[in-house]
Amino acid sequence: RLHNTLQELKGNIRVFCRVRPLVGGGPSPHILLPPDDHKALVLARSEESHVGRRTTQSTYSFSFDRVFGPSASQQEVFEEISLLVQSALDGYNVCCFAYGQTGSGKTFTMEGGDSDAAVGVIPRAVKQVFLAAHALGAQGWEFSFTASFVEVYNKSLRDLLYTGKAGKRPEHQIRKSAAGEISVTNLTYQKVQNLIAVANQNRSTAQTTLNDRSSRSHSVFQLDIQGETAGREVCCKSTLCLVDLAGGERVLKSQAQGERFKEMTAINSSLSNLGLVITALANKESHIPYRNSKLTYLLQSCLGGNSKTLMFVNIAPEPDSFGESLNSLRFPSKVN
Ligand code: ADP
Ligand code: MG
Repeated sequence: RLHNTLQELKGNIRVFCRVRPLVGGGPSPHILLPPDDHKALVLARSEESHVGRRTTQSTYSFSFDRVFGPSASQQEVFEEISLLVQSALDGYNVCCFAYGQTGSGKTFTMEGGDSDAAVGVIPRAVKQVFLAAHALGAQGWEFSFTASFVEVYNKSLRDLLYTGKAGKRPEHQIRKSAAGEISVTNLTYQKVQNLIAVANQNRSTAQTTLNDRSSRSHSVFQLDIQGETAGREVCCKSTLCLVDLAGGERVLKSQAQGERFKEMTAINSSLSNLGLVITALANKESHIPYRNSKLTYLLQSCLGGNSKTLMFVNIAPEPDSFGESLNSLRFPSKVN
């Protein structure tokens, strides 16, 4: 039986699933990836029933637009989304998310690891956009870019490209113009090559003082693209938005107190609101609840309208992640 999950949503929404390698290598004991089917994933677990001590096998089947197993390289993953990235230069807004529990590979997918081969979606996408823009230059197009990198933590925004004095960080507000354009006040814009290095610097300062909150906040990278023909007859404007979401794991309410409780509540409500927004868009509903969370408000212009959305559901293969995996694979059906 196929579960009602995101992948049943249609329109301009695609969902990919990526299973990271098991720590220590080898196959996952409970995740089955049919070898000739790049769209299917099955979770299987034996459960001992209390009556008669019988062991029963529970299986949960899912299908996606594409499933990447643990051996999929960053290059292979990017190849599947490069057309989508390309459409940002054709004037489409593009939004790509990574959703999953902490440790499932969201940051690895979006930003990547240290080696050249491990470079992730954000740097590959930026490089592709620049190369394509350069090629279009020969046909008389001229492009300009601005990039921002923001962390949404609880209900506040933090500029990951800020390089000024720590004590002088400005406050940020999300504004909407009369024309419906979303902007953030007081943001820093950086040369794109430096982006991830500066962002990581900002994160590591936050880490010591705030105890690694990077997995408990959403990182939103936005590249605004503006293209004009030489005579300025045609102008195209779009945004490429790449988001590493906060860990979607369930934390027992009794275990979270004080700051952690506040974080947990903020994460849960923003993720479930994101699910609601995506579901509402897929169902072509007249009211889309963008304003219910900072995250969706910030992303409003990249979601809906003529935009194309891709969601990665990242999965950790360890046995103790079974429940969280099931939960992630069902997102956002549970918010319906
Ligand atoms: P998350 O951002 O979801 O918390 P990470 O991206 O930090 O998870 O991944 C957790 C760990 O697993 C990291 O050490 C990361 O380098 C490693 N990892 C994740 N995905 C892969 C992958 N596809 N191949 C190799 N290592 C991976
Ligand atoms: Mg992460």
